[in-house]
Amino acid sequence: MDFRLTKQEQQLKEMYEDFFRNAIKNAPDIFKRGGGFEATFSDDEGFAFHRKMATILGEKNWLSLPWPKELGGSEASIMHQLIFNEAREVSRCPGYDFHGCAMFAPTLLVFGNDDQKKRFLPPIARGEVQYCQAWSEPDAGSDLSSLQTSAKKDGDNWVINGQKVWVTAAHRADCMFTIVRTDPESTGSKGLSYFYVDINSPGIEVRPLYYMNGAHVYNEVFFTDVRVPHKDLIGGEGNGWQVTMATMNFERSGMGFFSTGKKALDRIIDYVKTTRRNGELLSENAFIRQEIGKIYASLEAGTMLAYRVGFTQASGDMMAAASAASESKILGSEISRDISDFGTKVLGLHGMLEESDATPLLNVIEEYQNSVGLTIAGGSNEIQRSIISWMAPLNMPRWKLVNPATVKK
Ligand SMILES: Cc1cc2nc3c(=O)[nH]c(=O)nc-3n(C[C@H](O)[C@H](O)[C@H](O)COP(=O)(O)OP(=O)(O)OC[C@H]3O[C@@H](n4cnc5c(N)ncnc54)[C@H](O)[C@@H]3O)c2cc1C
Repeated sequence: MDFRLTKQEQQLKEMYEDFFRNAIKNAPDIFKRGGGFEATFSDDEGFAFHRKMATILGEKNWLSLPWPKELGGSEASIMHQLIFNEAREVSRCPGYDFHGCAMFAPTLLVFGNDDQKKRFLPPIARGEVQYCQAWSEPDAGSDLSSLQTSAKKDGDNWVINGQKVWVTAAHRADCMFTIVRTDPESTGSKGLSYFYVDINSPGIEVRPLYYMNGAHVYNEVFFTDVRVPHKDLIGGEGNGWQVTMATMNFERSGMGFFSTGKKALDRIIDYVKTTRRNGELLSENAFIRQEIGKIYASLEAGTMLAYRVGFTQASGDMMAAASAASESKILGSEISRDISDFGTKVLGLHGMLEESDATPLLNVIEEYQNSVGLTIAGGSNEIQRSIISWMAPLNMPRWKLVNPATVKK
């Protein structure tokens, strides 16, 4: 099998890489330390740059590459989209609203009606809106289907009450997609529905959850009698679980882990090639060389896995795509953790410092702290392993997910 890009794909890759390499030069300093959620959502200047870049990417029609032409897209191939994703993520340039472009839009293309596609897709394509994903609840994370936030029908509206938690970027968002219980008699995954919600609707309160260093990325979102029009129900009443599963698989394709991992590894390689300890160039140290080789091999394998997720999704085999997406998510989040762990070891005591002139790879400790969350976000790795075990080709008996917090003693 030949994994090399065609000549045309190689040209695309170089064009996107050139664009993002130049664009990131104009980013505020906070992105020079590695970028990521903290730079984009916690810092005002960082968020302003993200919005500016979103508009630029929107003008180039790069936020809607695979969509049908009649909906403003370019009908680009999955390979084209993946090449774009990889180039953007390697540069760590912001401007791409992952929640809107990579989660909500593809879900809408499958489950939205014509009116919803017409209303919600163009602002995403133009880079005008920031989305967030309001799914998890204090007692419903891994076992998301035990969620309790409810919506009751009242004329042409639904009235939502309840609480969501860990909502990334809710304080910066214009809108959200959420899943709530619309059948009060139901339990588990039945009786749930999926809504688009304007975050400025009366009755929504967003409260910050701060990092230990004071950064603001995550939030709690409280709903008190929030009225949402029926026309914003996506995929039909009671079908929320099916719609959510589709969004989840789009979330887990995982290319970002491997692209940002390559960038992080490059920085470590530059450092070890130019730094001596006890008279020895670090790049001559056998342990360091072996770790670099090991990480590089995992990143190459992971990139192929992420491409496979994209191809399987495009082929419409959503069961195989779900299993491949879980594999990619596990490998990607664990390799991100291993790279930053290795980075802190290479730096020695300096690796513990944040934002200090004495720290040669400024972002390493922040990435190390963030990397733990990556193994939990988007569904913890334990749950991903369970998913792989019960899907083809392993076909193990399915184990019911039980949330310890909701087990009656
Ligand atoms: C960085 C980050 C960003 C996030 N962003 C968002 C967001 O934008 N929107 C949103 O809605 N949510 C978000 N989340 C929430 C995330 O989806 C949940 O944290 C995750 O699904 C786990 O749920 P939980 O925190 O309730 O942990 P629990 O479900 O209570 O799990 C606790 C531990 O028990 C393990 N466990 C639980 N059940 C089983 C089982 N059956 N078998 C084996 N092990 C099990 C888990 O693996 C985990 O290690 C984010 C989380 C993080 C860390």
